[in-house]
Amino acid sequence: MNCEIICVGTEILLGDILNTNTQYLSQQMAALGFNVLHQCVVGDNAARLAEQLNESLSRSELVLLTGGLGPTADDITKEVCCEVMGAELVLDEEELEKIRRYFEKRGRVMVEENKKQALVPQNGVVFANHHGTAPGCAVEQNGRWAVLLPGPPREMRPMFEGQVKPWLAQRSDSVIFSRMVRTFGIGESAMASAVRDLLDGVNPTVAPYAKDGEALLRVTAKAQTCEQAARMCDETIEKIREKLGSYIYGVDVSGLEYAVVEQLRRAGQKISFAESCTGGLIAKRLTDVPGASAVFECGVVSYANEVKKNLLGVKPETIEQFTEVSRECAAEMAQGVRRLSGADYGVSVTGFAGPDSAPDGRPAGLIYVGVSSEHGTAVREVNTGRGGEGSRDYNRTVAASNALHLALEEMRR
Ligand code: ATP
Repeated sequence: MNCEIICVGTEILLGDILNTNTQYLSQQMAALGFNVLHQCVVGDNAARLAEQLNESLSRSELVLLTGGLGPTADDITKEVCCEVMGAELVLDEEELEKIRRYFEKRGRVMVEENKKQALVPQNGVVFANHHGTAPGCAVEQNGRWAVLLPGPPREMRPMFEGQVKPWLAQRSDSVIFSRMVRTFGIGESAMASAVRDLLDGVNPTVAPYAKDGEALLRVTAKAQTCEQAARMCDETIEKIREKLGSYIYGVDVSGLEYAVVEQLRRAGQKISFAESCTGGLIAKRLTDVPGASAVFECGVVSYANEVKKNLLGVKPETIEQFTEVSRECAAEMAQGVRRLSGADYGVSVTGFAGPDSAPDGRPAGLIYVGVSSEHGTAVREVNTGRGGEGSRDYNRTVAASNALHLALEEMRR
């Protein structure tokens, strides 16, 4: 089924706020197996919103709108939608009571304008707002639906997750299920080429993505039951495994740091980091994962060579002979932080983040990551080939990902 997303709000149009609702809804709808055809932003203007909605409904069976459900005069989404779709707005006493209670509970006065939020489309579907006052709703015309959701993400997301998703599932005679295969160390095009024959599949579908230096495959199946769809996904994932083998580091994991935490947690082991060019990014990413405290010992941001030597025990002659951006230095940093912290794994990174090349002419994006463990010390050289404007963030992200990936490889030996 085709769908599209319209976000309403002049503040989004002018770039005052980032349109995260579109990203969230697109991801959700794609995962549910919808073809997301268009996304757009319209200001708080009735004529332009009506024009856009008419256009969207002419080509898609489902249109999701966010924003403009508030009590003020510039909140026009519900009114415009009902006019376009020939629906009448009626006062929902139950919703009005909820809004009254919402204000009462917070000791705030409910003004007359708030009553507007209790207006819902006659014969429409109402989605309760458990995190704010404006209910969401769905309006139908000739088999096409407009689903209206509040603008604030903290209201919109739980409403979508808890009510719109089940409503969509209920209206469908089949279940859509998807799994995400995550790879590392292979580019998106090489990955897509390796699984080329699977990309033409209709059910399950296999779609490639690239994100932050990683290549991902989303496998989506449609079936009568969730179990059947999951089985179909798993059969396709087996075929993907045959083709991509060790490039795959996880299925349905949220990222490398999640895979690392899970692996350590299962083994009852700990990790520490010695970071130079990533400046603490690896530790940040690991501690983004809930439950990281069970596996994370410490992070040392050893930017200066003196700290590499004095705290981590990197030998002065190593730096003299090979420089601080070298295999040898990465190895000694990893060994040093493991020794210092007593963790099972010491992980290091040293490199040129960019944007400029190093004074000795070596390129931005040349990075060494190291992992020290009871198995010995492994070092990986990475050359991102990126310098110049905008390269610094990318190089640091890729450096951190490589460090986490090498750690994962060592843990799985
Ligand atoms: P309210 O009752 O708070 O007025 P509403 O449904 O009318 O809610 P808007 O007034 O359009 O929503 O937006 C309220 C706030 O929600 C915005 O100021 C913004 O912070 C956030 N918001 C709205 N749309 C988006 C979006 N597309 N992406 C991210 N945040 C958004």
